Amino acid sequence: MITKHYKIDRKNIETASAILSEAGETIRNGGLVVFPTETVYGLGANALREEASKKIYRAKGRPSDNPLIIHIANLKDLPTIAKEIPNAAYLLAKKFWPGPLTMIFNKSKDVPDTTTGGLSSVAVRMPDDEIALGVIRCGGGFVAAPSANTSGRPSPTKACHVADDLDGKVDMIIDGGDCTIGLESTILDMTVSPFAILRPGAITAEMLEEVIKEKVTSSSGKALKEDTAPKAPGMKYRHYSPKAKLVLIAGEVGKVADYINERIGEALSDGGVNGDCIGIIASEEIANRYSEELRRAGSNLESTDLQKRVIVKTIGNRADASGIAANLYRILREFDAEDVSVIYSEVFPEEGIGIAIMNRLTKAAGYEIIYV
Ligand code: AMP
Ligand code: MG
Repeated sequence: MITKHYKIDRKNIETASAILSEAGETIRNGGLVVFPTETVYGLGANALREEASKKIYRAKGRPSDNPLIIHIANLKDLPTIAKEIPNAAYLLAKKFWPGPLTMIFNKSKDVPDTTTGGLSSVAVRMPDDEIALGVIRCGGGFVAAPSANTSGRPSPTKACHVADDLDGKVDMIIDGGDCTIGLESTILDMTVSPFAILRPGAITAEMLEEVIKEKVTSSSGKALKEDTAPKAPGMKYRHYSPKAKLVLIAGEVGKVADYINERIGEALSDGGVNGDCIGIIASEEIANRYSEELRRAGSNLESTDLQKRVIVKTIGNRADASGIAANLYRILREFDAEDVSVIYSEVFPEEGIGIAIMNRLTKAAGYEIIYV
């Protein structure tokens, strides 16, 4: 299949109506369209047609029991696909939709089992992105859209990430620039009591509780706790994984830097991982500790050789969790392309969106954490 590539300039979004109409028509005809959202890029198809949502699973190489999220553009469309909607859902929709919150309800008979991976529940979200909302409206109102990556790879936050995974496998890719949040939505199960967060995202438990005035539970708990057994269907799959082995280092930041500097020293010495390249994810606060070590330990190497052996990427300031979230998947994908064999990363404070950052990082690391 030949994939059509379009780019939409958000400053002149009115000029994009022809692209949005074509995207909508493609979806109504059962095709696949990739579009940006504020979280990550989505791979969209008509959620109410079985053959259309089957195509999503095929293009992504996604196991058929890993359910899709249905994206809507109007709150009044919710009862078409969901039953027994609690009042709290309307309070949350009023506050957080459009936005990075997915809610799970019992599904109506209009939703095919393929879309929900065989479950009797359905996940629904209204994205906060003019392009996404335009595609959904033009596409008939109900668009199943998981992240637009090959299953198991980090989610795409730029159109070039999508093209790397899905060029030739989808009808259309719409480039709308970088995703602002960069991590997938918070998923809240509204079919249980108390309501339960199945996946942390930009909207935290505290933000939800403040609106509904009741407690919500988080099944995965804090990422660094032992209790990290998957509870949501689909979460049993190894998600967000880079090609390299990712190792997280937890502890006081100075000690973390010392530990990783030892690994740099090893990589650059003859007795180390000869020929192998290591990647380092560094906050701005720690990055200069690594550059000092690189200068010291690498002084006897050619600079090209040095760059081949150790690659340090700055992910953002530790005080700016949103910035770190927005850079995470891009950095993991860059390390994939650079073929590093191991990536070391410090851990980040588990507050606000930091909980979601650590959820994705610990999964990508296969829960391997070294405490120093
Ligand atoms: P993605 O859109 O790629 O982030 O994947 C959607 C994720 O939403 C799935 O992997 C599930 O974890 C979750 N999900 C979707 N529908 C349901 C549902 N009905 N019940 C529980 N989790 C769901
Ligand atoms: Mg995904």
